[in-house]
Amino acid sequence: MNQGQNEISPVRVRFAPSPTGHLHIGGLRTAIFNWLFARHYNGLFLIRLEDTDRERSKQEYVDSILEALEWVNITADEPIIKQSDCFSEYSRLTQQLLNTGKAYRCFCLQEEIEARQKEKGLDPLFVGYDGFCRGRQVTATDLEKPNVIRFKIPYDIDEVIFDDLVRGSISFSREQLDDFIIARSDGTPTYNFAVVVDDAAMSISHVIRGEDHISNTPKQILLYQAFGSAIPEFAHVPLILGPSGQRLSKREAPTGVLEYRHNGYLPDALVNYLVRLGWSHGDQEIFTRQELISYFTLDHVGKKSAIFDQEKLDWINGVYMRNTDNQVLLDTILVSIKSDFLDQLKKWGKEKILILIDLYKQRTKTLRELVDELLRFYKIPHQYDQDAIKKWIIPESIKYLKFLIERLECQDDFSVEGFSSVIHAVCNELSIKLVKLAQPIRIALTGSSASPGIFELLSVIGKEESIARLKTFVAFLEKSAVN
Ligand code: GLU
Repeated sequence: MNQGQNEISPVRVRFAPSPTGHLHIGGLRTAIFNWLFARHYNGLFLIRLEDTDRERSKQEYVDSILEALEWVNITADEPIIKQSDCFSEYSRLTQQLLNTGKAYRCFCLQEEIEARQKEKGLDPLFVGYDGFCRGRQVTATDLEKPNVIRFKIPYDIDEVIFDDLVRGSISFSREQLDDFIIARSDGTPTYNFAVVVDDAAMSISHVIRGEDHISNTPKQILLYQAFGSAIPEFAHVPLILGPSGQRLSKREAPTGVLEYRHNGYLPDALVNYLVRLGWSHGDQEIFTRQELISYFTLDHVGKKSAIFDQEKLDWINGVYMRNTDNQVLLDTILVSIKSDFLDQLKKWGKEKILILIDLYKQRTKTLRELVDELLRFYKIPHQYDQDAIKKWIIPESIKYLKFLIERLECQDDFSVEGFSSVIHAVCNELSIKLVKLAQPIRIALTGSSASPGIFELLSVIGKEESIARLKTFVAFLEKSAVN
């Protein structure tokens, strides 16, 4: 398929979540693959809500799924389809299959089916329906009894083969398929039936979904054939596994997409990370959205399951934070992390907060971490990291700091350069290396020996607060020395 700018593309793909829970990051990756595929081939990306399970589907989940997709900037190119709006179409088409002898009513109770299987020495867990009602003449009295509608697997085929765009040729023999249910006793359609009806109605060209749906595909292909509809191409992508090698679960990492927003990840960073889980473009790790669109094809989607790697996600998020404008980061914090962030840092004002965001984004991996660090830095520390004290404080430190305080008290340039020149001058006068004074200053300012540059921090908090922090630390050291 060629990538053409102006041609009408035959590509129409869809993401079809079931609103029975929040959007899982595995689901998001499927959505992203579909969206990129559509964009790459100038096609259309559609969304269909598979809400036929009336008991488990909830509006709350519809809302949160769509909110999560919007957060990562993935939206549908046509109005969103809801399966619950299509029930009459499903029954019309079920009836059509009944009328043409391609489906039949089944009155068997589950216990009856199992009893027959056991009698034949078969384990009901591993065998499907035995076709008991397949040839049954349905009477009017029968119709008063609860019944389901089953699809008649054609007996004139030996197997169903399809060419999966990720996994190559896949085949199922007829023995692996039983006459599966297409409508439940309450008339609602089953997943396999509704999917085929809708994918055909929506003219879906490529079905890109998780590999947990591979075993559904032969049933769906047979339904397309029964309707005489065009069969889409299929691409089944490997699942995302947790570090334990099992399907990623809440125990191993947050799985809800919106949890990542809450935890301070940037949407483009999460998208970049998820695309790379299962797809590659040489060794490149960081991609703009435009690059993803131009490079993404199914050719480089791997067959092997990808393992979720929190460290890598954090690294990618850090890269995106550093590349994001400070004002954008601040706006994101206010919208997604802490709406009263500015109020909580009132004495600094917006200008200083933007400078601090710039300093702290160099060393934090999530916006939440950045927010926590800034809230911590806002307060004068009264506790200090003991390891830092052991490593950097010597008996003379108190003398050095007091000398510095004296100099700062009569200094009037509180720019980064102003602080830098006083501190360098003090080190010269005391004949000590900068680190002997810089690290104690850092501990005094932040409570620890890891922070952005001290000249910048001093300049942001200003003369009075800098001196107050230094004095508090000196008092602490003097008290510790006495004890
Ligand atoms: N509703 C199905 C799911 O959430 C969609 C499967 C498909 O894409 O066909 O897994």
